[in-house]
Amino acid sequence: MSRFFTSRLSKLVPYVPGEQPQDRKYLKLNTNESPFPPAPEVLKAVEEERRLQLYSDPESLKLRQTLAGRYGLTAEQVMVTNGSDEALTFAFMAFGDDAAPLVYPDITYGFYPVLADLLRIPSRTVPLDGGFRIRPEDYYDAKGTVVIANPNAPTGIALDPGEIESILRRNRDHVVLVDEAYVDFGGQSALPLLEKYENLLIIQTFSKSRSMAGARLGFAMGGEDLIRDLKTIQYSTNPYNVNRMTSAAGIAAVEAQAYYDDCCAKIRQNRTWTKDRLEELGFSILPSSTNFLFARSDRIGGEELYLAMKDKGILIRHFTAERIKDYNRITIGTAEQMETFIAGVRECLEEKQ
Ligand SMILES: *Cc1c(COP(=O)(O)O)cnc(C)c1O
Repeated sequence: MSRFFTSRLSKLVPYVPGEQPQDRKYLKLNTNESPFPPAPEVLKAVEEERRLQLYSDPESLKLRQTLAGRYGLTAEQVMVTNGSDEALTFAFMAFGDDAAPLVYPDITYGFYPVLADLLRIPSRTVPLDGGFRIRPEDYYDAKGTVVIANPNAPTGIALDPGEIESILRRNRDHVVLVDEAYVDFGGQSALPLLEKYENLLIIQTFSKSRSMAGARLGFAMGGEDLIRDLKTIQYSTNPYNVNRMTSAAGIAAVEAQAYYDDCCAKIRQNRTWTKDRLEELGFSILPSSTNFLFARSDRIGGEELYLAMKDKGILIRHFTAERIKDYNRITIGTAEQMETFIAGVRECLEEKQ
């Protein structure tokens, strides 16, 4: 830290993203990226967007209209952001303060507590139950802005819409933010509840199911008033938040829905295959509605497996938090990648004997 760094933030511990090492070629199963390239139309749209001398449309109107059409909303109910992390930032800034502290699970997306700290918004964590599930009752009358990743990360477990609705119904005077980063892999969206609950804000991303992690595009869906609040923050921080290449890519991606449905179906298939093989090897796995598995074994520790696999050129994710330090989070890749992964795990277990 330089001597100029603001003392207001001297205790900030930044979020640590999954490694993106450049030292050798790894099989990357550690950051929940898609193993599939973007749809061909997406690459073509990026190539054809050449007007980089001009600012992008701060309203991102065409992209918002395209998303609105896809999800049965009006453009005023949608806003787009530089990755969904930016949507989370805007939402925390808009809807979190001393009167509306943030309330989220103890085990969830690690970016939430960092962001809350940065913005100096008080927050309260609610423990997942013994099976790493969110208990909806724990969020009734939460007296703050509720933040739920559904499906949750890194557990992979989803709540059903009825459970989300019960949380919405019991928090009428606070925003309930549902982060649906993984919903396309098997969760059920809260989208149909938007009509009934003005306190619902849904955030999704193009990073996972739409193979666009490197393009940085996220979006929020909610009532027009909530969306207007988010835009107030956008125009106060980063008016041109979605660049021209990404906007063109996003429109083409929404229009290439069939391609991505196919990718998601393959991921689900490979997820089942990988889960079965890991169970044969003695792993316990939480029920996943996502593009990753959260697994542990009595035969090998979480950190030990992570390091042994890294040695073999295969990256998986390990978290050091006490409750989950025995686990690994494994991103689902192509069938061939998962065969390589399982062969690697087999070797690690054999080498231990
Ligand atoms: C990956 C992820 C995001 C953010 O992704 P972006 O790349 O910023 O869109 C948000 N929430 C959860 C739970 C995630 O796993």
